[in-house]
Amino acid sequence: MTDAHFDRNPDTVINVVGSSAGFPVHRVFCVGRNYADHVREMGNDPKIDHPIFFMKPADALVPNGGDVTYPPMTDDVHHEVELVIALKSGGRDLDFAAALEAVFGYAVGVDLTRRDLQAKMKNKGAPWEIAKAFEQSAPIAAITPKDQFEFEENTAICLAVNGDKKQDGVLGQMIWSVAEIIQVLSQYFTLKPGDIIFTGTPAGVGPIAVGDTVDATIDGLTPLSFKMVK
Ligand code: MN
Repeated sequence: MTDAHFDRNPDTVINVVGSSAGFPVHRVFCVGRNYADHVREMGNDPKIDHPIFFMKPADALVPNGGDVTYPPMTDDVHHEVELVIALKSGGRDLDFAAALEAVFGYAVGVDLTRRDLQAKMKNKGAPWEIAKAFEQSAPIAAITPKDQFEFEENTAICLAVNGDKKQDGVLGQMIWSVAEIIQVLSQYFTLKPGDIIFTGTPAGVGPIAVGDTVDATIDGLTPLSFKMVK
């Protein structure tokens, strides 16, 4: 073994609004099918009784809107704008109050998806990793501490491609709330400081191409902007 065997990327760190200390990421959890109109546009029934969880590796994050390289093995990369929760503490089987107490802050993220491969994997009943967990599949803006973010039912969550608005929802459309997502996730995993959770996307997902500029916003949070490059 040489030192090269241990030449790993540093931990992924995300900027924090109003702080010089970054937020070091532990794990990236994601929720699927959390806005009814998006569930319907994908041909599914929103009346499920349980959130769907999947994961991305922490180094799939692209902090602070750097360029994103169009991934190989796909012709159909889709954008999904999402509210991201950052956890400062964790634990198991959290109750409602403990779930909210565990939140450090919130950010705007985009869950990039190889939609063609996801459809193939769904048809086979196979895992989604090749559709969801590729490098640079999770651009994310700076985290705003929770005491500086006003979470309202009508808070807008939007995404534009080259200035054309494609996704236009509100956080009140989420089927599973922030506290409920953390509560249920903590029944399956012992949550830890540094874990982050992508909370699902409203309707209007669609393809992005090389050269496109993506602007994702949630009112009150740092906007996210990135360009797809070859
Ligand atoms: Mn998603």
